[in-house]
Amino acid sequence: MKVDVLIVGAGPAGLMAGAWMARTGVKTLIIDQKPCRTQSGHADGIESRTLEILDSFGIGEGVWRDSNRTIELSLWYQQQGVLQREAVMQNCNPGLSRYQECTLGQGKIEQRLLDLIHAHDCVEVQWNTSPVDLRVNIPGEYRIEMQIQTVQEVEIKTIHAKYLLGCDGAHSWVRERLGLRLEGDKMDEHWGVFDAIPITDFPDIRKRCIVRSPVGHLMVIPREARLVRCYVQLDCRTAAEFKKNYHADILVKLVATILQPYRFEASQLEWSTIYTVGQRLCQTLSMHNRVFLAGDAIHTHSPKAGQGMNVSMQDTFNLGWKLAAVLKGQASARILRTYEVERLAVAVRLVEFDKRMVQAVCGRTLNAHTRNSILQEENSSASGLTARYCPSLLTVPRGDLAANLTVGMRFPSTPVFCQSDARPWHLQQLLQSTGAWHLLVFGGNLSAVSQMKRVERLAAAVADHHLGILSAYLIHCASRQEVDLMDLPALFRPFDASHGYDYWKVFADRQPSVSSHGPGEAYRFYGVGEEGCVVLLRPDQHVSFIGSLEDINSIVVIFTSIGWNDRDS
Ligand code: FAD
Repeated sequence: MKVDVLIVGAGPAGLMAGAWMARTGVKTLIIDQKPCRTQSGHADGIESRTLEILDSFGIGEGVWRDSNRTIELSLWYQQQGVLQREAVMQNCNPGLSRYQECTLGQGKIEQRLLDLIHAHDCVEVQWNTSPVDLRVNIPGEYRIEMQIQTVQEVEIKTIHAKYLLGCDGAHSWVRERLGLRLEGDKMDEHWGVFDAIPITDFPDIRKRCIVRSPVGHLMVIPREARLVRCYVQLDCRTAAEFKKNYHADILVKLVATILQPYRFEASQLEWSTIYTVGQRLCQTLSMHNRVFLAGDAIHTHSPKAGQGMNVSMQDTFNLGWKLAAVLKGQASARILRTYEVERLAVAVRLVEFDKRMVQAVCGRTLNAHTRNSILQEENSSASGLTARYCPSLLTVPRGDLAANLTVGMRFPSTPVFCQSDARPWHLQQLLQSTGAWHLLVFGGNLSAVSQMKRVERLAAAVADHHLGILSAYLIHCASRQEVDLMDLPALFRPFDASHGYDYWKVFADRQPSVSSHGPGEAYRFYGVGEEGCVVLLRPDQHVSFIGSLEDINSIVVIFTSIGWNDRDS
């Protein structure tokens, strides 16, 4: 069997890669040794950046609707036998994203991704299947040869693939076969975990809680469907006892002891396990520019900051569009080298942050100020919102025409108003993950003739260079009443005979009821002046370039340097 992409592992990282392949029409096989997706337990924290990403595949709103919101964080401690509340704080920094951190079982996220994948014929998911042998970098177009075997079948099948993704978790078979290792500390610190419906009068049970107690620390994470996840710190003796029979009663009793004098019992115990904390990292993310590792295969850490599933999906969100662009002949394989540079930096920061987070949760000596600042950091940098990819052929920093945007970072969102029907949209909602680059044209005050001429010249330049890979939007700061869609260049009102005009390409930067012009709310949010600018976004919503309305040549240079040659698309 021949495929373009072979993915080992149908966890969050593998399925996110599969989602890109499905959306872009790349022939892909995903294999997993399990019989089906995760049924219960595992990770449950979803960061706001992950929700933005899921929304770009059309599945974010469903996840958001089904999830539980963790809006507040409550800190408790036990002193001289008395349990006391120390502080209640915001669990999320409002304003950083249109979403906030929430919780939903990993299996439900995987199901959404599987539904998306199954809606496309080009990606096949094969369960109960493991790799048994691997050859890489063999001559020819299909550089990967893997032998796979399905449980209970004697026959071994050979798969020929152009690219291989090792998304097979912390004990990655692919990583081992490449001779790579996770390095770092495996701390001797055990945490028991269970999901249950709590029967309790503990007042903060629906808040995210950290409870410090001499018996062991406790983390409470409220979940969907009345569930609560409890992480409880275990001493070596209790950890060994739990490992003997995996009977969650031990964990429930420990939580009940920590929460005394409040009552705590567990009804409908869904899942339990033991988690040994260790921050480990594989420094090599790719080999021969043909095999790529992602997710837990390259970084493991504690579950304290709820990062596991998030960073894993964010890894392959970074990689997937690049692979698709290369396979479709829209870019040179050079761009794949940016994956390791961009995501290794994130993994290193994650592991460092996790060490601080473990200190914040478990540390006995940390002062309240330091702890609070680490918890704040969790909401911003650790959530994936502030990941900043370094300058490369994909991210080209220049100028300051959008003072509040940073090249290399993800594009933040604010409301804009459709020119045609006044409907408010979060600008990011428009930036769907299709593999297209996004060109945001901040056209300025279009009611001024000179400004309209600049936008017309820009549209002509885009047409001259056949930049069909771009999906263009115009955001103006004129009064909506003074702009007529049909006076605008065709780039911003594409037409096709069966659907008519596309009316969702032009937006005003202020509420429809406001009729003034000059920079309005959205322009101020991005730090764009009346003269406007162009913002080029990569298919993963990270800012690639910011320039003036006359700077289309610089964008052509970027596309030339990445080897984009699909000029007729
Ligand atoms: P995984 O989710 O591990 O997915 C890897 C996939 O590869 C799996 O489906 C596996 O079956 C498959 N696979 C592995 N080896 C092979 C092979 N040789 N052949 C074929 N398929 C293979 N995170 C938290 O935040 N909180 C938690 O409480 C928590 N609990 C966890 C409990 C367990 C038992 C595990 C394994 C993980 C837990 N995690 C938790 C971590 C979290 O689930 C991961 O960080 C996240 O799922 C990473 O996604 P991934 O796709 O990289 O890897």
